[in-house]
Amino acid sequence: MNRRYLVALDQGTTSSRAVVFTPEGSVVSAASIEFKQYYPQPGWVEHDPDDIVATQVESLRTAVRKAGIQAAEIAAIGITNQRETTLLWDRKSGRPVYRAIVWQCRRTADYVETLKKEGYTEMIREKTGLVPDAYFSGTKLQWLLDKLDLRDRARRGELCFGTVDSYLAYHLVKGHPHVTDATNAGRTMLFNLATQQWDDDLLNIMDIPTQVLPRVVDTSRIVGMLDEDILGAPIPVAALVGDQHAALFGQACIEKGMTKNTYGTGCFMLMNIGSEFRLSQAGLLTTMAWRLDGKPCYAFEGSVFMGGATIQWLRDELKLISHAAQSEALALSVPSSGDCYLVPAFTGLGAPYWDMYARGTLVGMTRGTGAAHIVRAALESIAYQSADLLLAMTKDAGCKPPVLRVDGGASANSFLMQFQSDIMDLPIARPAVLETTALGAALLAGLATGLYPDIASTAQGWHMDTGFEPRMTEDDREKSLKGWHRAVEAAQFWASKR
Ligand code: ADP
Repeated sequence: MNRRYLVALDQGTTSSRAVVFTPEGSVVSAASIEFKQYYPQPGWVEHDPDDIVATQVESLRTAVRKAGIQAAEIAAIGITNQRETTLLWDRKSGRPVYRAIVWQCRRTADYVETLKKEGYTEMIREKTGLVPDAYFSGTKLQWLLDKLDLRDRARRGELCFGTVDSYLAYHLVKGHPHVTDATNAGRTMLFNLATQQWDDDLLNIMDIPTQVLPRVVDTSRIVGMLDEDILGAPIPVAALVGDQHAALFGQACIEKGMTKNTYGTGCFMLMNIGSEFRLSQAGLLTTMAWRLDGKPCYAFEGSVFMGGATIQWLRDELKLISHAAQSEALALSVPSSGDCYLVPAFTGLGAPYWDMYARGTLVGMTRGTGAAHIVRAALESIAYQSADLLLAMTKDAGCKPPVLRVDGGASANSFLMQFQSDIMDLPIARPAVLETTALGAALLAGLATGLYPDIASTAQGWHMDTGFEPRMTEDDREKSLKGWHRAVEAAQFWASKR
């Protein structure tokens, strides 16, 4: 039987998804299953590890059934995952010792404050490319070892730590490999991006025994065969990759300077910066793009906290719209926002401002301001925040990308994409396949199993569906950006001035 299909397991924060692709990168079928979120205390977020595995297996079986194909026709499976979420389990039984601590969970904010007070911020940045934060796995693992008193067991090699890719590989792959890939390792705050090794200094600081750590493998590489019980045939599991890195690959941003922005709940912009590990001067993170044949490729990463979530706020709190897509027609019903600016800094501002005291601000209203102006200003705010990120990246990288490739739910909004192109003065390309995260994982798995001879051939399936060209005059762009930056000033430090 011809092994030609590729399958991605896309394990996200709220759902597990499986997608079957043709080798040309077209979607054959997909299935998703949501699972429960646990909030045991304010600011804490957990997942049940059994739910993660069960929903992932179920979505895989459903997607394959919907595709109407035999398991033996699948060439390879790639796993992509919510990043930083931390699991610890018994090496023999595979049973977790605690629920998965989700990336959003703030329980280790104190640990991070201690690291900062002790003067480790620069060291962490230089080694890991990250700004110390409770998002990353390191302090979550430290918390588990402390609170459950597990250091001795960890030292005896009885426990395995891993992110979701690692946990799925252990549970779905025959022989239970304890592995992770370099993109996921790079989000732990324990992995040295320059040496591509777990970092002894960081392990010492957080008192983490090396025996718990997974082996770090290339992003595209066979880690083993899928357990035959799952689909009835052994299939190579041939890629592990964090979700944003997978999207960068799925967008075929394989050359230095190529950049993608994902417009989901938040926005995630990644720029491929090539084989040299560099730190940002503008508060961006440095992260792995991927590691292939032992060769690291790096990326700058910046994120907008309130992207599509701003539109949810219009819908759920202000009730100005009844569904997200309606925002487009409403925004287009007025010729401009009427000099109105919304800064959706509801939880502070990320790069390049890094102001946790900033708060949401709506400025410039007149007696004539209506719902349509506010909706338009909200959509524009997503574009302005992304433009600030791009500017920071461009400065750091010393070059502007020729085009921005876009994906994610809100990239369907053509008004937003046109405004994005106008305000960045940059062409925008929206691809035919918007499942870029799953596609990236599938392509990386195809690369490891020889379905594609080289990285360039994985990019051949990428096709633009819609392009947007900048149409705004230089004068209008400058005026608009000036207004936005004045509005940001108004939002900054608000919560600290009370
Ligand atoms: P995530 O993966 O973060 O859950 P998605 O990529 O599924 O996000 O995108 C969902 C987000 O996109 C929501 O916040 C929603 O408000 C926003 N969104 C979806 N469609 C549109 C649209 N047509 N216009 C603006 N925002 C949209």
